[in-house]
Amino acid sequence: MRDKVSGARRWVVKIGSALLTADGRGLDRASMAVWVEQMVALREAGIELVLVSSGAVAAGMSRLGWASRPKAMHALQAAAAVGQMGLVQAWESSFGEHGRHTAQVLLTHDDLSDRKRYLNARSTLRALVELGAIPVINENDTVVTDEIRFGDNDTLAALVANLVEADLLVILTDRDGMFDADPRSNPDAQLIFEARADDPALDAVAGGTGGALGRGGMQTKLRAARLAARSGAHTVIVGGRIERVLDRLRQGERLGTLLAPERGLLAARKQWLAGHLQTRGTLVLDHGAVKALVEDRKSLLPVGVRDVQGAFRRGEMVVCVAEDGREVARGLANYSAVEAQKIVGQPSDAIERLLGYVSEPELVHRDNLVLV
Ligand code: GLU
Repeated sequence: MRDKVSGARRWVVKIGSALLTADGRGLDRASMAVWVEQMVALREAGIELVLVSSGAVAAGMSRLGWASRPKAMHALQAAAAVGQMGLVQAWESSFGEHGRHTAQVLLTHDDLSDRKRYLNARSTLRALVELGAIPVINENDTVVTDEIRFGDNDTLAALVANLVEADLLVILTDRDGMFDADPRSNPDAQLIFEARADDPALDAVAGGTGGALGRGGMQTKLRAARLAARSGAHTVIVGGRIERVLDRLRQGERLGTLLAPERGLLAARKQWLAGHLQTRGTLVLDHGAVKALVEDRKSLLPVGVRDVQGAFRRGEMVVCVAEDGREVARGLANYSAVEAQKIVGQPSDAIERLLGYVSEPELVHRDNLVLV
């Protein structure tokens, strides 16, 4: 099963607070440099990479000289805002030493459940990855408190894996992985090497909460793996201090706990799309566009659309029909009905002139399209 790890082309790597701040002693730049080196090697091997970094609260606490984690949410949020500055600076300078740009992206769970923001975040991340920059994502702790309360970014990392359609989510933590009993109290506890993410037996062994610094325990990591599995991604929960951990995972070494999805990436995504029964409009395609979609598995460009019906917004589901009314596909529209009216029949390089801006060159991207 480790070929799923070594063969993964798009990784989301999540690093937790305890690791990043050497258990609260401020940002551990030496360890960060070691991970950066490995992440750069991944990129150089052609693997696309998105980093989800916690540690803002923990770094802020140490910058502010706070020894213990405050209870008040506003104090934690303030610490996160202070710490985020140091956190992104540290990532930036470390990646910069290898000639890599980094990009700060602050997200909330709500951003990812709103269709329009979801598509916006997706195209920005896609653009960053294409530019070779490393997106460094954290929760926008100033405006929300989901991860401060529960997860230390575990859930956010899973949502990001879904957003970018990663095939692998690597959660680096201060344990070696998931054990079948608590290794702190049970010397016979065994590391679980592989399991199905939806295996109910895992609930019993994932008990317990996070440490003093971050909030995420094994339970939130298991939940994150299940969420990632829903979009077809594999998750590895693994010790971030294991020597050359990312390199060794890439080589297929059996480190940490690998949690497998029920279905592959494509099947899961198509199922997710197919589940969106509510459609908001119809696009009537010319013969060339039908062929491009069905035979060549391409995206739908505005030039191949003859007519736009209904009142949909960007990110909503539309039906694509041939001129004889036969349904050929369904997908998420990159433009609203009003915008689509203006650009259909036109080449994609005319979009900017017609609308004053360009979201994407496609009206429906093939990743967001299911043939019927
Ligand atoms: N997003 C937060 C951070 O980066 C979560 C971690 C926490 O609550 O300590 O610091």
